[in-house]
Amino acid sequence: MVDLTLSVFQKGFNYSQDGRGNRLVYHLQGCNLKCPWCSNPEGMEFSEGSGTPVEDILNEALSCRPMFFDGGGVTFTGGECTCQFEALLQALTLLKKAGVSTAIETNGTAPRLPELFGLVDELIMDCKHYDPDVHSQILGASNGIILSNLAAAAAKHPDLLIRIPLIRGFNASEEDMERFAELFLRLGADKARIELLPYHEYGKDKWTQRGREYTVHNAFISPAQREQNEEILRRRGLTVVRT
Ligand code: SF4
Repeated sequence: MVDLTLSVFQKGFNYSQDGRGNRLVYHLQGCNLKCPWCSNPEGMEFSEGSGTPVEDILNEALSCRPMFFDGGGVTFTGGECTCQFEALLQALTLLKKAGVSTAIETNGTAPRLPELFGLVDELIMDCKHYDPDVHSQILGASNGIILSNLAAAAAKHPDLLIRIPLIRGFNASEEDMERFAELFLRLGADKARIELLPYHEYGKDKWTQRGREYTVHNAFISPAQREQNEEILRRRGLTVVRT
């Protein structure tokens, strides 16, 4: 039965950055982490956003099919899309049944994430820090479930993209990259694609407009540092991409 709704705070087309090809991207409301650099602070709270019936999303996706070129389709991101797990499960089931390419972009914290593996053509997972204590301290939750989900995804999902937001002073040093490489190899993620996303401040004004303090400073990394970090991962046999 199709009866659930998804709370969406933003939607639109994007090419290649939220999965392959041209994709209709739904930003789902609410997130269980508290990244101080979040570029969508309006999506962090659970109180806002529309209640869009899952069936409407299916119909919208079907009407947009001609736009899904270069392997495109529908992507759910956030906020954190898995915070609306049941409705997301229902939406992905319907889209998959209709033959629409599906992707999710997730912070990896959902204990039930492996239930979605068979419904998602491309799985994009963040890994923001290798250390559970640092993860807890800065992001508000440990990385324990994220790492077990990463291991499960590496073992079971054929198209896994791991993304690390590179934040100077948090996770972007050469030593950090060595630790990430060790972690991914230990988790069996040597076949996954890995992307390093340099820190940006696209969301900074939105924090202040919402009366919230933006606490991240001097976190940019240079293009050379990014390349150097990518090279460290490559030297360990990992596959680094830029989407
Ligand atoms: S996990 Fe993503 S949506 Fe959630 S706070 Fe962090 S950056 Fe924002």
